[in-house]
Amino acid sequence: MNNQGRRRQPGYDVVVVGAGPVGSMAARLCAEYGLSTLCIEEHGTIGYPVQCAGLLSGNAFSECEVSKKSVLNEVSGAEIISDSGRRLLIDAGTTKAFVVDRGILDREMAGRAANAGAEFWLKTAVCRMDANRLFTRGIDGHGEVSYKILIAADGPRSTIARLRGMARARTYLAGIQAEISCENDPRFVGVYPEASPEFFAWRIPVNRKRARIGLAGMTRVREKFASFSSRFSGPCMDFVVGTIPLGIMPVTYGNRVMYVGDAGGFAKPTSGGGIYTGVRTARHAATTARDCIEKQVFDDAPLSRYEDLWKSDIGKELGRGLWMFRMRQTIGPLETDRLIAALSDPGILEIIRQHGDMDRPAGVVKELLKQPALYRYSGMALRCGIKMLTVNPG
Ligand SMILES: Cc1cc2nc3c(=O)[nH]c(=O)nc-3n(C[C@H](O)[C@H](O)[C@H](O)COP(=O)(O)OP(=O)(O)OC[C@H]3O[C@@H](n4cnc5c(N)ncnc54)[C@H](O)[C@@H]3O)c2cc1C
Repeated sequence: MNNQGRRRQPGYDVVVVGAGPVGSMAARLCAEYGLSTLCIEEHGTIGYPVQCAGLLSGNAFSECEVSKKSVLNEVSGAEIISDSGRRLLIDAGTTKAFVVDRGILDREMAGRAANAGAEFWLKTAVCRMDANRLFTRGIDGHGEVSYKILIAADGPRSTIARLRGMARARTYLAGIQAEISCENDPRFVGVYPEASPEFFAWRIPVNRKRARIGLAGMTRVREKFASFSSRFSGPCMDFVVGTIPLGIMPVTYGNRVMYVGDAGGFAKPTSGGGIYTGVRTARHAATTARDCIEKQVFDDAPLSRYEDLWKSDIGKELGRGLWMFRMRQTIGPLETDRLIAALSDPGILEIIRQHGDMDRPAGVVKELLKQPALYRYSGMALRCGIKMLTVNPG
């Protein structure tokens, strides 16, 4: 990865903007397809600053296709803890997720892309564009580069989406997290719904003596974090502050550009996790780019295949996730306790163990809503669905 002097560079088949996990996967696959590929990243060090809790399901981790170098801990379940002290432990008894160092993960993914032949320009930001050229500003001064296809992987505040005037995600959550020293069970993630009633708060064990505590929400997030973190005695360090876009942009391609990962609003509305879904979109974008370049067609019709591909893969799941996110807004403290009590039934816990999937939670929710003890939540789900359809028909 080098930053050779440049002003005007020859064009590339594909330019990827953003070297997060999604951009690096897209760049790697495009390079492996034999396309000349450039990845532009505004920061000098890939993977920093970290804006992530670093919890990846087994599937999400496999999707990244990296070694276990970044893995700090393995977890087998989660404990949901209400403010009144009710607890629900869901233990799969086997590794379900990995706690990773995002800096190491991101750099390994970028390294694989570079090994596959993708070129990287670091400390270079895209600041302007026209029909098929990007204008950059960075360590080598001002530059420009042309592309046949552009993959926008530039995160939740996507510059490319803004420059192209694309409609964006409808909801943005703010997230705050700190790493603290505290005794905790390294096998289980803690989930605290009432610490952030619009979403949730978490404790992610890094090891027996260290955890990442954080929360995401829409209002008074700093205040809520200060109150939540005061429950833990250890000093806070390694702060992470970031944005989570919820709701995919209405159109995810156009004018030679495909929007992937957080740039397209692909984070899961149930957990805020965006790596699994983002890397899936990178795969679909790379396949579409390869097909367009093979046929030398760059108008919107062949590019629309990207949207067909992600819709048939994760579209339904993300749509249902948004529904669950709306439903979550209607669950107050009393309802949380009721829900924990209902879910504590051994038969129901068995359904969760059998059907639970962090990346595709709609399946387990569908099974749970069929249980008589949870019928009242079917009614709530229906009301939320109707509300969503009337507010946002289609
Ligand atoms: C507090 C918090 C906790 C989270 N926890 C989890 C979790 O536990 N698990 C999970 O799966 N997800 C989690 N997420 C979400 C996850 O971090 C994102 O979904 C993921 O990083 C998206 O990857 P990406 O590659 O699309 O975007 P990013 O990782 O944001 O990468 C975008 C890249 O583009 C670069 N860039 C931006 N603009 C420009 C420009 N103009 N020119 C050049 N480069 C540019 C940025 O520097 C950045 O490197 C969390 C998010 C937050 C905020």
